Amino acid sequence: MKADRIAEPWGDRTPYRRHGDWPSRVDAHLAEGVEPGAVQKWVAAASLLHSGGDAMDIAVVDGRMAGVRGRAADRVSRGRLGPKDLFGWQANASPDRLTRPLVRRDGHLVETDWDTAMELVTARTRELLAERGPGSVGFYTSGQLFLEEYYTLAVLARAGIGTNHLDGNTRLCTATAAEALKESFGCDGQPGSFDDLDHADVIALFGHNMAETQTVQWTRVLDRLAGGDPPRLLCVDPRPTQVARHATVHLAPRVGTNVALMDALLHETIRHDRVDHDFVEAHTVGFEELSERVASCTPEWAADICDVPAARISEAAELVGTADALLSTVLQGFYQAHQATAAAVQVNNLHLIRGMLGRPGAGVLQMNGQPSAENTRECGADGDLPGFRNWQNDAHVADLARVWNVEPSTIPHFAPPTHAMQMFRYAEQGSIGMLWISGTNPAVSLPELARIRALLAQERLFTVVQDLFLTETARLADVVLPAATWGEKTGTITNADRTVHLCDKAVEPPGEARPDLDIFLDFARRMDFRDKDGGPLIGWREPEEAFEAWKRCSAGRPCDYTGMTYDRLRGAGGIQWPCTEANPRGTERLYTDGITWAHPDDCESYGKDLETGAAVDPVEYRSLNPDGKAVLKAAAYVEPHEMPDERYPFQLSTGRTLYHFHTRTKTGRVAQLDEAAPEVWVEACAADAARLGLGEGDLVRVATPRGALEARLRVTDIRPGLLFVPFHYGYWDTKEGDGPDRGGPGRAANETTITDWDPASKQPLFKTAAAALTLVAHADGRYAPAPTTTASAPSAPGSVPATAGGRQAYATQDSGPGGTS
Ligand code: SF4
Repeated sequence: MKADRIAEPWGDRTPYRRHGDWPSRVDAHLAEGVEPGAVQKWVAAASLLHSGGDAMDIAVVDGRMAGVRGRAADRVSRGRLGPKDLFGWQANASPDRLTRPLVRRDGHLVETDWDTAMELVTARTRELLAERGPGSVGFYTSGQLFLEEYYTLAVLARAGIGTNHLDGNTRLCTATAAEALKESFGCDGQPGSFDDLDHADVIALFGHNMAETQTVQWTRVLDRLAGGDPPRLLCVDPRPTQVARHATVHLAPRVGTNVALMDALLHETIRHDRVDHDFVEAHTVGFEELSERVASCTPEWAADICDVPAARISEAAELVGTADALLSTVLQGFYQAHQATAAAVQVNNLHLIRGMLGRPGAGVLQMNGQPSAENTRECGADGDLPGFRNWQNDAHVADLARVWNVEPSTIPHFAPPTHAMQMFRYAEQGSIGMLWISGTNPAVSLPELARIRALLAQERLFTVVQDLFLTETARLADVVLPAATWGEKTGTITNADRTVHLCDKAVEPPGEARPDLDIFLDFARRMDFRDKDGGPLIGWREPEEAFEAWKRCSAGRPCDYTGMTYDRLRGAGGIQWPCTEANPRGTERLYTDGITWAHPDDCESYGKDLETGAAVDPVEYRSLNPDGKAVLKAAAYVEPHEMPDERYPFQLSTGRTLYHFHTRTKTGRVAQLDEAAPEVWVEACAADAARLGLGEGDLVRVATPRGALEARLRVTDIRPGLLFVPFHYGYWDTKEGDGPDRGGPGRAANETTITDWDPASKQPLFKTAAAALTLVAHADGRYAPAPTTTASAPSAPGSVPATAGGRQAYATQDSGPGGTS
C-alpha cells in the first residue's frame, strides 16, 4: 500500500491492545524509477535525523544510495520509518557537498589538499599549546557522529591535548536530560524503554511534541490509541500539537512556569496519598523536604502562575496519580527554559514517589533529540568524563587514566568540564585561541546570532569546521574539512532508549571527504600523542577497533558495552545497554531492582544546587545519601529571567517542525521535506492577531532586545500571548550565505534569543524571550509557508492549502509478514 508520507507523516494504523505486540509494518521509499528488483544490496543502518534510532536498510544501486526501507524485526520501530527517514538520505548526494578541504587565504576560502589543511591545524595547535597551554584549545562537536568518533575525540582532547574544553551541541538538546538523571539517580542513563509505550495506561508528555520529534514512536502511540484498552494521555505544551489533540488532558501553561505546574502535581499526589510509601522508604532520600516544599503548591496557586485552570491541573494530577503504569517523557518544552533541570527533576520525583519505575509501562524517558546524543554523553564528548565517570571522584579519574595508560594528572579534573556556552565565552574573550567544530552549525543554532557570528569571525580565533556542506559556520572558518556521513562510513549510534545500532558503510563518500573518525585519527597521528609508556595514545585505526577500545572504557560502568560486538549487532539489529557477556541480550529497563549507581563511590555526579548550579561537595553528598538511594530534590518556582513588558508584550518560544532537522543543512536539500516547510514563519493565536489587525500570511516582524526577524504569520491555536518561530532557517540558501542581508531583517529564530542558560544543566534558554510583533506588509493573498499537518495547523481548518507531497512523497507500507523485501 502506498501513502503520501508528507501528507500523512505517521502512515496507516496497525492497532494493538495494551500489553500486546506492536505489529510490524515495513515502510520503504525508493528513488523515482528504481524497482525493488533493481536494488543490488541492502546495507544496515539506523536513522540519522532524530533520536528514535529506527533501523533501516539502505538500498544501493551502482554504488549509489537509491532508497531506504525499515526492518520488521527492529525492536525500536518494527519496520516503520518517518518522513525524514524516508526522504532525508537524498541529501547525501547533493551536488554542493564539500569534496575537498578549504583553507582561508587573503580572506577567502580556497581548496587545498588534506596534507596542507591538516598541517595547518596541527601547526596552530602546537603553537597554542606551547604559548598558552591546553586551555587555549576547544572542541565543539555534535549529536550526529558515531560513538567511535566521539570516543576518539574525547581521548585526544582530554588525554592528548589535555583540555577541559570539549562539549557537543547536545548542550542545546540533551544536557538537561543527562543532568536531571544525574540529580535524581546519581548517574546518567535512561531508566525506561520505548517498549513501555506498549504497557502504560497513562502516558504523560511534558514539553515533548513526540508527534514531530519521534514520529515513529508517535505512530506507536496512535496504534495503541486505535486498539483495545487505549492509554490516556497528558500533554503539557503551549502549542496545539498532535499530542495535544489526542490528549485526555491538555495543559498549555505560560512558558517558563513548568516548575510551578510540577510542584502542584506533586502537591496533589501527596495530598491524596497516591504515594508508594514502601518504594519511597526503600529507594529514596528527601521525601520530607519535598513534601514541605510542595505543601503550599495547590492547583489554585499554580493556576495563577501558569495561567491554566486549577480544575485542569487537578484532572492532570488525578490522571498521573491514579495510573497503574505511568510512562512520562520529557523534552525541550522543559529543557530549554530557565528552570530546566528543576522541572525535569520534578518529573523524576513524581515517578519516584509513585514507585513508577523499572517495570513494564512504568518508566521515565528523559528524551534527547539527536541520533547519537546519547553517545556524546557516555563517551565524554559532552562535558562529562567517559563512561559516566565522576570528575570530582579521584578514584574515577584514576580508573580512566588506567584505561588510557596516562597519569591521572593528564586528564583535566580541576573543575567541571567546560560547557559549550562557556566555551564560546572563552573564545569571545580570547582565552580559547582555536575552536574545532565538528558536525554542527553554531552560526544558526546558538542563541544571539549577531554575537556568535562576530565571535567566530574574530581574526585571533582559529576556527576549524568539519562538515558535509559549506554551512553558515563553515563560511566563517579558517580551515574547512569535508566529512563523510552516515551511509558512507561505519559506526554505531545509540538512541534515546539506550538501543545501539550498527550503521555499515554502503557507498563511497564524495570526492576526498573522509569519515570524522579518520580525520580525528589523522590529527592524533600528526600530533604524535603518547601514553605514559611512550606508546601511541590512540592505538586504533578502524571503527571496529575503536568500538573495542570503547568497550574497555565502558567495562563495569553503567553504560557497559562489553557484551556487544559488531557481529552481534549485525545479527540482533539493536541491543540496549548495559550489555555484558553474562547479559548478552542487553537490558530493557534500568532500576528494576533498586537504584544502582547513586552510591557516593559509584555516582557520576554529586549533584548541583538547582537554583545556582553550584556543585554539591562529596562530603555533603555522602552524608545526605550514604546508601546510594534516589534523591528527591525539591525546587521552588522562580520567574523567567525576561518577562514581557510594554515594549515586548509577547513571550517567544522557538522549536522544530516535523519536516526539518536542525539548521536544514540536510533536510533543506531534500525536495519532499523542503517543499513541506520551505520558509520560516511565526505563529500567534487568533485573538492576538485580531487585536493587532493581523491575519494569515501577513509579513510580520518579531523583535527582542537582541535582534529581529521577518516572516509570514500563521494564525493557530497556540496559547494567547505566545509567539512561536521554528529555529531551522539560517542563511546558506540566501544571497548572503552566512547572515542577514546587511542591514536587512534576519530569518533565523536565534537572531532574537538570549545568551542565558539553566544553572544546573547549562542548557540555553530558547523558550522564554520577551518579544514584540508588528506588521510589515499585509498578505496580499499569500499564506504562511507552515505545514498544516502539525502544530502549525491553522486555527481555521481548511483556510489554507493542505500540506501534501504528491507523487514524489509516495512510500510503501507493508503490514504483511516479510514486508517489502
Ligand atoms: S533539534 Fe533540538 S532537540 Fe533536536 S537534536 Fe537538535 S538541538 Fe537536539
